Amino acid sequence: MSKNGIYDNFAPMSSVIDRIAKAITVLWVAPVSVFALPLLPLTLWRASWRVNGGVLEITSPGLSWFLQGPWFRAMSGGTGFAAATIGHVLVARDRRCMNTCRVHEHVHVRQCERWGALFPLAYVAAGMYAAWRARRWTAYYWDNRFEREARAAEV
Ligand SMILES: [Zn+2]
Repeated sequence: MSKNGIYDNFAPMSSVIDRIAKAITVLWVAPVSVFALPLLPLTLWRASWRVNGGVLEITSPGLSWFLQGPWFRAMSGGTGFAAATIGHVLVARDRRCMNTCRVHEHVHVRQCERWGALFPLAYVAAGMYAAWRARRWTAYYWDNRFEREARAAEV
């Protein structure tokens, strides 16, 4: 007799349900995750790949270049981004950035799991609304409700 008694019988079943739920979540987020595919050429040189908590984490010098590009510098009003989340794919400049940004970026993963394919649209809409309210383009990122939620989780 184990300490869990009768509930032991349900343990294998709950793990099956857990796996099915995880597979459904991956499929639900897949329409967003596929947008990470165009970044593949940037990972051909000196990339580091890892799966962590159901999220594919990639760092590489090519991704570092991409995250510091003018497109992200304009959005952040600074030096670009240290990391970014695309569905279940998390890209970062390097291992150090990955470790610093993980908590923040995993909030974006949860947001994406909530919204599914609509997440990019919801994110852009929230950003446009924030920029319009503040009459500042950088508010698109800094005052975006999804970013505020992710920043709140950091500490
Ligand atoms: Zn963020």
